[in-house]
Amino acid sequence: AKARGRNNFQFFDPVMTEAGEQRLMLENDLRKALLRDEFILYYQPRIDLSTGSVTSVEALIRWQHPQRGLLAPNAFIHLAEEIGLIGEIGHWVLNTACRQLRDWRSEGLTDLRMAVNVSARQLHDSAFHCLVEKTLLDAMLPAACLELELTESCVMDNPEKAIVVLNTISRLGVRIAIDDFGTGYSSLAYLKRLPVTCLKIDRAFVQGIPEDAEDVAIAETILSMAKHLGLVVVAEGIETEAQCDFLARRHCKEGQGYWFSRPLPAGDLINFINSTVPT
Ligand code: C2E
Ligand code: CA
Ligand code: CA
Ligand code: CA
Repeated sequence: AKARGRNNFQFFDPVMTEAGEQRLMLENDLRKALLRDEFILYYQPRIDLSTGSVTSVEALIRWQHPQRGLLAPNAFIHLAEEIGLIGEIGHWVLNTACRQLRDWRSEGLTDLRMAVNVSARQLHDSAFHCLVEKTLLDAMLPAACLELELTESCVMDNPEKAIVVLNTISRLGVRIAIDDFGTGYSSLAYLKRLPVTCLKIDRAFVQGIPEDAEDVAIAETILSMAKHLGLVVVAEGIETEAQCDFLARRHCKEGQGYWFSRPLPAGDLINFINSTVPT
């Protein structure tokens, strides 16, 4: 009990208190952010590497904080998961992304698809598939134009549950992608049992292409495995022409990264797509 008392005392260390206060302030702000309409979605195009056309976009959340400015997800998603807000935020993301897609499709981008990131906590909600179904209905979108991106760790968190939930969602016609592929506890046995249609090669492996022999070997292994399993591969974080050429030559179907475009606000994305249409 003595040792414990000493640890508790540490809590009142002025540095700790300041960090604690910062976190508490951010937490309070985060609780109000949805009501105050402070979240925005940016969209990063995904490119078909053989044709150069935009196949889909990935919705990436930002928080327009009244004092701190535009915050990237790494600054608040983890906190939102911890304090139980990720369900509501995830719902907002799904809904906003689907409405945006409906608008774009009705404005002429009829084949455009949308990818949305899903956190492990959302999968724990046994009504998640109902939410997805309802959101698609409300936005009057066919299920096949929505793809949910889940990280390996998100799925491996509770694989048996994930298999059940993802099977239900997949039966709706929604596609499932494994995000950051290669970085988690990649259990290939589970991959076989999951209704996955797409693997996204993590940026960490794309970075070293084509100079780094290990990154090249990993990318080639993922590509060959995906081919045998009938899965689409998307390379994320493509920043150079050399990376793009290498991946295209090895029949990587799609790519995403700063080489093509950074994530953009909705209005700028339209301009980007129009600028890629051959005249
Ligand atoms: P992610 O799903 O792996 O998304 C890709 C991240 O890489 C994005 O960062 C994107 O801006 C960035 N990126 C794209 N191309 C390049 C490139 O060529 N070079 C480099 N260096 N970076 C690139 P962002 O937007 O900061 O998002 C970070 C992470 O936050 C995402 O990683 C995702 O895990 C999470 N996230 C984003 N939006 C949501 C959301 O709506 N819900 C949930 N649950 N998570 C989200
Ligand atoms: Ca993603
Ligand atoms: Ca990723
Ligand atoms: Ca990542």
